Parts: sequence; C-alpha cells; structure tokens
Amino acid sequence: MSGQHFSIAIDGPSGAGKSTLSEQLARELGFLHVDTGAIYRTVGLAASRRGISKEDPQAIAGLLPELEISLQFGEDGTQRMLLNGEDVTQAIRMHEISAWASVVSAIPAVREFLLDMQRRLAREHNVIMDGRDIGTVVLPQADLKIYLTADPEDRARRRYLELVARGQQAEQAQILQDVLERDRRDMERTVAPLRRAEDAVLADTTGKSQEESFQLLLSLIRSHLERKQGGPLS
Ligand code: C5P
Repeated sequence: MSGQHFSIAIDGPSGAGKSTLSEQLARELGFLHVDTGAIYRTVGLAASRRGISKEDPQAIAGLLPELEISLQFGEDGTQRMLLNGEDVTQAIRMHEISAWASVVSAIPAVREFLLDMQRRLAREHNVIMDGRDIGTVVLPQADLKIYLTADPEDRARRRYLELVARGQQAEQAQILQDVLERDRRDMERTVAPLRRAEDAVLADTTGKSQEESFQLLLSLIRSHLERKQGGPLS
C-alpha cells in the first residue's frame, strides 16, 4: 500500500469507459472515485469562457492564479466540480470542452498546478483515480494500475450514445475524428503523455458490455487487493 490507503490508478484513452467503470467500481468497493479528467475540463471551461485562444498557452497559464478549483463528493460518492465557487459539473460535459481540456492539459504549468490536489486525495482516501497519467506521474506507487482501452470506433460509438442520451447534438463520424485527434494530442504531448505504465495491467473492453467490463475489472481488483491485504476484502 502507498501510505495508509489503497490507491488504484486507471488510465487510458478517452471513451474507454474509465469514468463510468471507475464510479461503479468505487461504489462497489467503498472507495472514493476521483475523475481527474473533470479537473482538466474545469480549467478548460475557465479558459474557454475568457475567450483565450487555444494557441496561447501563456495566456492559459496566466489564468491559473485566478482559479479556485475544488472537488466535492456527495454521500453517494458523486463528484462535483466547483470553479471559483460555481458548480460547473454539468457545464464541463459540453462536447467543445473536451477539446479545451485536451489543449490545457498539454501545458506543463496546468499539470503542475493540479498535481498536489490529486495526490492529496490519494493520501486521505482509498481511491480509484482515473485519468491519463495517474499510474505514470500522479501515483507511481499506486497499489494497482490498470490501462483500460478499446478500439477507437468502439470508443466513438459509446461517446456518441452518451452525448445523445444527454440530449446533445452529435454526429458519429465527427466524434470518431475528435476521438482520434484527442488520442493523438494526449499520446504525443511532451509532458505526461498518455501511455501504459510498465507495471499496469492491460484491460481491453472492445466489444464488451459495461457489465462485462465491470465484472472483468472487479475480479482483477479483488484478487489483487486480497493478495496485498492477505485475505478477502470485506
Ligand atoms: O477523461 P476526460 O475525457 O474527461 O479528460 C478530458 C481531457 O483531459 C483528456 O482528453 C486529456 O487531455 C486530459 N486529461 C489529462 N490527464 C488526466 C486526465 C485528463 O491530460 N489525468
């Protein structure tokens, strides 16, 4: 264990099901689910509202001292994002904020700004933390690292269904292009690029239902934690 608490890092490309599965797993195990993508989305939302150009990393970094970002967790474990006191949990889910999150997350000053907040949560709670660099940078000592992936077409289809279910306009071909563009940006950036940590277990959810993916990860986590703890988890 890293310190007093268990930490599980789940990394992977967008649309692999990280957040939904992490949330379900955290509820099952009584862990806190920390969705780090939501934190980057909050910075992205702030930048988009200021009318800053996506091509202007200095202006984006200059915004950071004015941002007060905090996470709140409901009784059921649901994570809410606050930006300077405003609840932006819904606003950060707009499709255009995905691209903004990906842009701001490539800026070293932004990553540095958010690092402590993420590590503190893992020090204080049993966490399932999902993102892109959790196993490689944020929690290199995590008890278990999982690299969750699926084919781009599968991920785009899921993203599309998610957006439509939320009543947003979406076109599947465009979503696939956006997914591929985000993959490229997340994997090719110089700071904390998305990659599988050497000691991460690979889980591929292509063609699997959410329930099948959930069961796969749950048994993986259970057997791993039981081994570490030396007995069954309660
Ligand atoms: O996971 P989600 O799609 O909400 O993340 C939004 C964006 O935030 C990602 O495309 C990625 O660029 C960035 N991100 C990151 N590091 C993390 C989590 C998210 O760079 N740990």
